[in-house]
Amino acid sequence: MRVTIARMRPSVLLPLAAHVPGVARAYGIPCRLPREDAVAVTFDDGPHPEGTPAVLDALDAAGAKATFFLVGEQVERRPELAREIAARGHAVGVHGYRHRLLLRRTRRGLADDLDRAAELIAEATGAAPLYYRAPYGVFSNASLALARQRGWIPFLWSRWGRDWERRATGEAIARRAAGRLVAGDVVLLHDADYYSSAGSWRGTLEALPAILEAAASLGVSWIPLTHAT
Ligand SMILES: [Zn+2]
Repeated sequence: MRVTIARMRPSVLLPLAAHVPGVARAYGIPCRLPREDAVAVTFDDGPHPEGTPAVLDALDAAGAKATFFLVGEQVERRPELAREIAARGHAVGVHGYRHRLLLRRTRRGLADDLDRAAELIAEATGAAPLYYRAPYGVFSNASLALARQRGWIPFLWSRWGRDWERRATGEAIARRAAGRLVAGDVVLLHDADYYSSAGSWRGTLEALPAILEAAASLGVSWIPLTHAT
């Protein structure tokens, strides 16, 4: 009985508490940049035919570089958008082939999912992804092990806009994502609404100029995760 409990403990705790900085640290999942002279903004769930181009234009207007955690099934539908993200100087990471909670997935099924996503991303962008974020930021032990076997760095965030919420206004998103921003912060936003409330990327877009300006007032730049180390 004791053995069963001991074996269960990590796989029960980790999915429930991976957002808590102390727990993330215990599992070696970074939430912040390892340097204090920059900030990073990350966009999950794309590419999206309207959200992604709009976000790319806003980033260009601010001279900012970001990291996009792409979903394989969306890259498959729109590889040209994934290609454009990379061509415009942003980093790409793996967010899975299907955007589902990992808790009920077998290790084999999950390995196939990750490999399929990585292959699609590499084919579309011409670059092998180096970072991994589990759907909903909920990592399982298997997902961490598989990601690390592939040489990917699992990454969470230190700030979020909660931009997936139905009632999130641009102002509220900007305040949560970048109010009292500090160097080293990693911000989570979404350029797609496939897995959140319909049209949520419009609020993100409205918030983006204020979020991106926050780095300038700190005297730091928005860098892709690939430039973080
Ligand atoms: Zn997601």
